[in-house]
Amino acid sequence: MDYGAASPVDPRVLEEMMPYFSDSFGNPASLHSYAFEAQRAMERARGQVASLIGAEPGEIVFTSCATESNNLALIGAALRYRSRGSGVVVSNIEHISILNICKELSKQGFEIRYVPVDRDGIIRLDRLEALVDDETVLVSIMAANGEIGTVQPIREAAEVAHEHGALFHTDATAAAGKVPLDVGEVGVDLMTLSSNDLYGPKGVGALYVRKGLRVKPLMIGGGQENGMRSGSENIPGIVGMGKAAEFAKKEMKSEAERLTRLRDRLIKGITEEIPASYLNGHPKRRLPNNANIRFSYIEGEALILSLDELGIQVSSGSACAAKTLEPSHVLLAIGLKHEEAHGSLVFTLGKGNREEHVEYVIRQMPGVVRRLRSMSPLTPEELR
Ligand code: PMP
Repeated sequence: MDYGAASPVDPRVLEEMMPYFSDSFGNPASLHSYAFEAQRAMERARGQVASLIGAEPGEIVFTSCATESNNLALIGAALRYRSRGSGVVVSNIEHISILNICKELSKQGFEIRYVPVDRDGIIRLDRLEALVDDETVLVSIMAANGEIGTVQPIREAAEVAHEHGALFHTDATAAAGKVPLDVGEVGVDLMTLSSNDLYGPKGVGALYVRKGLRVKPLMIGGGQENGMRSGSENIPGIVGMGKAAEFAKKEMKSEAERLTRLRDRLIKGITEEIPASYLNGHPKRRLPNNANIRFSYIEGEALILSLDELGIQVSSGSACAAKTLEPSHVLLAIGLKHEEAHGSLVFTLGKGNREEHVEYVIRQMPGVVRRLRSMSPLTPEELR
């Protein structure tokens, strides 16, 4: 139940990729039939990714991961449109990649402003309105948060950005394939996507760049990807991301319904069975596959290790920040105390999870929590 950290490649996607490793191995830049085959495969994938978000194929730039797409979006747009202003506005629960990119932009003279979220983890639109002004060049608000699952009002956020002539980027890594996203409907200028979160291979991502916009490339070279991301394309990976996007579009509705049922059963089962356990994030406006639950008087890390011994894999936050001892910035942003943030677990459900897995977790958790609580001097007598 840690699909947020990594997902298996869908076997149907892998099958589609296989010929492009050794048989159809051409470079799309060449001028012979091997190249044409690679070009066709790449353009088909571009169309499949575009279709998932209601974009045109020419608006998709393939990259190596969501982190790269975030870099290209924020640094590329901020530098390219610097003459419009030097303000950048992001939420304070963005993925660590966005927050660290902002630190870098700040060193380069940009003024970064952070929009807070409410106790459910939804961005405060009133505060966004107060922070965006005519000096703002870019606003970036994630479509959904991978840790607490909250789905953000990005259409409204994009409107605020556009009222002031700023560009709007959304990191849709955790949201794509889970909730419907349409770039036209939302009014997005730039959108980050990741292949692995769609059950495609790792090592591929994409950035949607609205027609007519350009971002300053980070990778300088032969001018591939419309000059915005040079380097010979990862054709098998791109083919895989395309196929994964096609399945995500086709199967999103039924899979979201299935996962929502499992998620709600998991949340109810755990919070009803275990005293002093609470859901983090909004109860309804959340990703169908995310449950983030905090347990008073214990450490998330101890829980993770104990659960792993029982064959249950979960996370204590974003995998990207798992090795730091800092509490999750997302949980602090929703107002949790340090010890509450440390006692939280993230369950991200996925294709391989079935009802019996959820029931197994609900059966195992109370014993594990009781045992760990009995070892903690902080635990009140009635919970021992
Ligand atoms: N943005 C969000 C919202 C994420 O959850 C993640 C991690 N899956 C990333 C960006 C970074 O993805 P990657 O490590 O694949 O670049």
